[in-house]
Amino acid sequence: DITAGFRSVVRIYQAVSGEVHALRGVDVDFPRGSVTAIAGPSGGGKSTLLSILSLRDRASAGTVTMFGTDVTRARGSVLNGLRRNGIAWVPQRPAHGLFPHLTAMENLRQVARTRGRTQGLAPGAVLEMLALSHRADARPARLSGGEQQRLAVAAALTHAPDLVVADEPTAELDDDNAGRVIAALGEIAAAGTTCVLSTHDSRALRLLPRVLHLRHGVLSAERSGPELHEESGRSRTADA
Ligand code: ADP
Ligand code: ADP
Repeated sequence: DITAGFRSVVRIYQAVSGEVHALRGVDVDFPRGSVTAIAGPSGGGKSTLLSILSLRDRASAGTVTMFGTDVTRARGSVLNGLRRNGIAWVPQRPAHGLFPHLTAMENLRQVARTRGRTQGLAPGAVLEMLALSHRADARPARLSGGEQQRLAVAAALTHAPDLVVADEPTAELDDDNAGRVIAALGEIAAAGTTCVLSTHDSRALRLLPRVLHLRHGVLSAERSGPELHEESGRSRTADA
């Protein structure tokens, strides 16, 4: 039971300086209820892969299948339907995805009203799971970066979609809260939601069973362990 599958997926950007080959023939399956981390250096293609997976971008070549439907050349209306009902996107700077005039609790209640097929977790329970109960009445602008990031994850859990796609969801979190986010993803995965996240975070990489490595647009065989952590650490330092 495969939520999403990529076959020979290529993404080429037309930049001023010429073509940028961000994905160079990616083959991967995301089975239902699995949690997959996409690791690798900055510029490796992680954002591009997540954009295509969350149907915010399209492959230049190859085939992408979602929920058994070939979405590679599907019409915008079809993609919108799949996105609304099936996919929760958790951006790296999540404030943009939250309703600014609503409190944390009201944000989750709003998401719960518009959610998809599956039964989501109750807003109160989700706030507690992510240690946000004491911030229930705060608007997003009043939350710290880490609290906003957790609220975006909370919104995804409330929505209970078929697929959660998260960009660096633990980047701004301390160890306890990073652990809470990973545990929460594990919990919804056990209930059947497929989770895919990009991460440089060695804490997340240690906790996750499936880590794929994306470098120069090529997805390598799964590997994990100290070698991967060192490499991610180096590229992070080089970027800073
Ligand atoms: P990562 O998320 O791993 O840092 P990206 O997917 O953001 O990697 O980028 C992969 C490559 O594609 C990089 O060389 C980047 O500069 C390039 N790229 C990404 N988005 C665009 C774009 N909109 N236009 C041109 N080049 C892009
Ligand atoms: P991340 O930190 O997630 O890797 P980036 O900072 O690489 O994200 O990219 C942020 C945004 O800028 C993305 O939407 C990406 O597609 C776009 N982008 C990245 N590289 C380029 C580029 N060389 N030209 C144009 N847009 C780019």
